[in-house]
Amino acid sequence: MVYLYQNKETLPTFIAKHLLPLQLFTRIHSINRYRSNTYVKREDELSASIVGSKYRKYASIIPFLKQQNFSEVAIIGGENSNNIVGILQFLNEHNLTAKPFLLKQNQHNLRGNSLWLRLLCPENEIYWIERKDWTRVNDIAYAYCNRQTHKTFVLEEGGNHESALWGAMTLAIDILRNEQQNSLNFSDIFIDSGTGITSIAMILGFAVMQEHNRNFHITMIAGNESTYRNLLQKYTSYIENTLSTTIDTSKYNITFHTPPTAKSFGAVNTTVLNEIQLIARTTGMLVDPIYSAKHFLTAKNTVTQNSPSLLIFNGSSFGLAGFQEKIEQKIK
Ligand SMILES: *Cc1c(COP(=O)(O)O)cnc(C)c1O
Repeated sequence: MVYLYQNKETLPTFIAKHLLPLQLFTRIHSINRYRSNTYVKREDELSASIVGSKYRKYASIIPFLKQQNFSEVAIIGGENSNNIVGILQFLNEHNLTAKPFLLKQNQHNLRGNSLWLRLLCPENEIYWIERKDWTRVNDIAYAYCNRQTHKTFVLEEGGNHESALWGAMTLAIDILRNEQQNSLNFSDIFIDSGTGITSIAMILGFAVMQEHNRNFHITMIAGNESTYRNLLQKYTSYIENTLSTTIDTSKYNITFHTPPTAKSFGAVNTTVLNEIQLIARTTGMLVDPIYSAKHFLTAKNTVTQNSPSLLIFNGSSFGLAGFQEKIEQKIK
């Protein structure tokens, strides 16, 4: 056990004070028929309708909002965002008003997240943003909040806020628990990235607990390496200041990967659909196309040493809901 400097407590004890009382453990199991010497971490099992990585973030965002007495939250994202549908579930549960600022995606039929979104929030509460105005979305949301008389918080796209770090760091704690329970030591950990905060928090969690010697493989589903490194730097400083500790960033061992196919965010093609089928038949998991199928394919194509690898399944089968017609066409 590593004790945090000054606080004289461990990271898990410190973090626990910032979390909702949720079950934040997930299992691992081997998927050797898909990728040899590989285990998958079932983050999809944290919640039936909220993506696992998001669920961990909300575990500490919600306590932050309550503690700061916010009564309304401006949320930002695309009409099909996993984050919007996930946070709406938590905001409704906790009696916090949501004000979505959403990128209009002009689709013909409502399906998947765009449909669940409208179950969770009345259409006339949504502030639609045209694509040409999307770069100004944060300004628009902050301007809205400044006009309110009650305390209103702007949660930027992907739940990318420092209050999400504590919840997201539980992933590192939980991986250590998996390793101990299964007498394993993962030399390579594969994780997918959107804004980057989920994987950054995991890397920081390992660093604070002084668990080095792991190679982190980041599948860049969205964003790029330089924005990722800037965010890593920003959150490293935040954690160092908050925990009064120093983090040796030279020990980070990070490799960035881009998916071999359908590289732009949101793109889905036959290769991705074929991979979903292959994963279903070799592992039993139903994975979403936007993040997880591309992430798995990327990991499968990456050669690592002989020691076991861990592949994090951050997505959910729920994310497949918007793709039923595409899958039907593929199966026929
Ligand atoms: C949102 C999401 C991520 C990425 O999380 P970030 O913290 O934005 O990097 C990864 N996988 C899935 C399935 C997601 O929905």
